[in-house]
Amino acid sequence: MNLLLMGLPGAGKGTQAEQLIKKYDIPHISTGDMFRAAIKDGTQLGKRAKEYMDAGELVPDEVTIGVVRERLSKDDCSKGFLLDGFPRTTAQAEALEQILADLGRSINHVLYINVDQSELMARLTGRRICRDCGSTYHMIYNPTKVDGECDKCNGELYQRADDNEETVGTRLKVNIDQQQPLLDFYQEKGTLRNVEGNQKIDVVFKEIEDILIVPTLI
Ligand code: AMP
Repeated sequence: MNLLLMGLPGAGKGTQAEQLIKKYDIPHISTGDMFRAAIKDGTQLGKRAKEYMDAGELVPDEVTIGVVRERLSKDDCSKGFLLDGFPRTTAQAEALEQILADLGRSINHVLYINVDQSELMARLTGRRICRDCGSTYHMIYNPTKVDGECDKCNGELYQRADDNEETVGTRLKVNIDQQQPLLDFYQEKGTLRNVEGNQKIDVVFKEIEDILIVPTLI
């Protein structure tokens, strides 16, 4: 199963991805996570990506496409994959078609999780992450038992540098402007599936499961 998860930042892609990779036993490929790991490791890629991420802008296509090509060529992707946060531009979408064609593969479903903008702002600015195990919480929707401390490992919680209100505003605008051509791209290919994301996590997941039961058109 080759899946692509789309939606604005905060739409719940990460949360749904976690459940999807478990159920379908496929690797989760998140470009955001890959960049954050590179920043943590202090690599050249991390240094380059950090400048753009801190400003709420997209990392340049040539950098991002190279990272994804390398990742999709790894053995664990042969049984399928879930791409999350990529593509974000038409150039990336076209490059992805080429990468997959080179590998003799194609996308089965593009899942678009649709969430209202006001809800996205509330979700993103309230998000907190554990410094040690990476678990995600929300100050209102999913608070920890002890303020500022991870329920699973007692690690310290932090707010991502790009989750403040100003940067979130910029991120949403950049993403909205770039998203529509991508939705059109996959709509035309017949692979786009709309998912109502203004619902509880389990309800959204059930909607996705129902979509994936239906055989792909391609
Ligand atoms: P995310 O975790 O998906 O919200 O991504 C966090 C940040 O990483 C974004 O705001 C971008 O700066 C960068 N990023 C992630 N994926 C991409 C992509 N496909 N193209 C360009 N930049 C990306």
